[in-house]
Amino acid sequence: MIDDVVSRGADALRAAGIKTARLDAELLLQFTLGVNRTQFLTMEDRQLSLTEADMFADLIERRGSREPLQYITGEAAFRHLLLRVTPDVLVPRPETEWVAEEVIAAVRHVHEPRVLDIGTGSGAIAIAVASEVPGAEVVATDVSRPALAIAMGNASDHNVTEHIQFFLSDYFKNLPERLEQSFNVIVSNPPYISHAELASLDPEVRDHEPLVALSPGHDPLAPHRVIAAEAPRFLKPNGLLILEVGAGSGPAGKAVLAATGLYKNIELLLDLAGQDRVIKGVLL
Ligand code: SAM
Ligand code: GLN
Repeated sequence: MIDDVVSRGADALRAAGIKTARLDAELLLQFTLGVNRTQFLTMEDRQLSLTEADMFADLIERRGSREPLQYITGEAAFRHLLLRVTPDVLVPRPETEWVAEEVIAAVRHVHEPRVLDIGTGSGAIAIAVASEVPGAEVVATDVSRPALAIAMGNASDHNVTEHIQFFLSDYFKNLPERLEQSFNVIVSNPPYISHAELASLDPEVRDHEPLVALSPGHDPLAPHRVIAAEAPRFLKPNGLLILEVGAGSGPAGKAVLAATGLYKNIELLLDLAGQDRVIKGVLL
């Protein structure tokens, strides 16, 4: 019974061009029934009520129109966290889990480390650091007020409100002077999709995720340039800058840090798919 319902849902999603049709149909039915994965996988004989059938049909239709699964269910997994997401924030990506890993590895053995996350979105990186590194104090910023509200809600859900301070700010603009030279690490996953590239993105991303989170305009490295130039004012001596870049932007991203003349040990790291993903540099 459940299997038939999933199959029909999956057929509709496949027809809409969704590659993960079966999995998405399963997750939407699971969400409709309000059960977890284990419960779902052991409920073969369950009959859907009329209300449940209607709700599932509605969710399949939404997903079929290429609304991201995470906006439909309202949650996204990031490392060990389940984060609330709405169309006001980017759905945190698996690649970024690994950016957070770089930050965590850099401060794990530092006494009371301080980390600044620029453009925190759902709060993914900031909350991961605050909850995985004992004693860490995090400052998180975003230029989007609604995004910041989501991030604050997520921080509260994960009991790290006391360890994260949020600022509505265009990059570093609204950060108080007392934060200067105070961070061991500054991290950012800024928007880096050029306007020209937007058209080639999946409709889930292009038509549903916030443009302010995706694209800085024509120059994909414009945010990196601003952050690399201004971060030194807020980093401690020998502090580390960690920036996510788009695939193919690695060498140009390294050049952005090098051009400032303010960093040493500039490195490009690839993600698990072998794509350029992180630029790191240590303050001179
Ligand atoms: N850090 C989150 C993550 O990794 O999932 C969100 C990253 S999203 C690619 C970029 C974020 O930067 C968005 O939340 C966007 O609102 C924010 N942003 C864009 N321009 C900004 C600016 N000038 N100053 C601060 N934040 C900005
Ligand atoms: N990694 C996201 C994507 O591929 C984009 C996020 C960003 O611009 N930082 O859609």
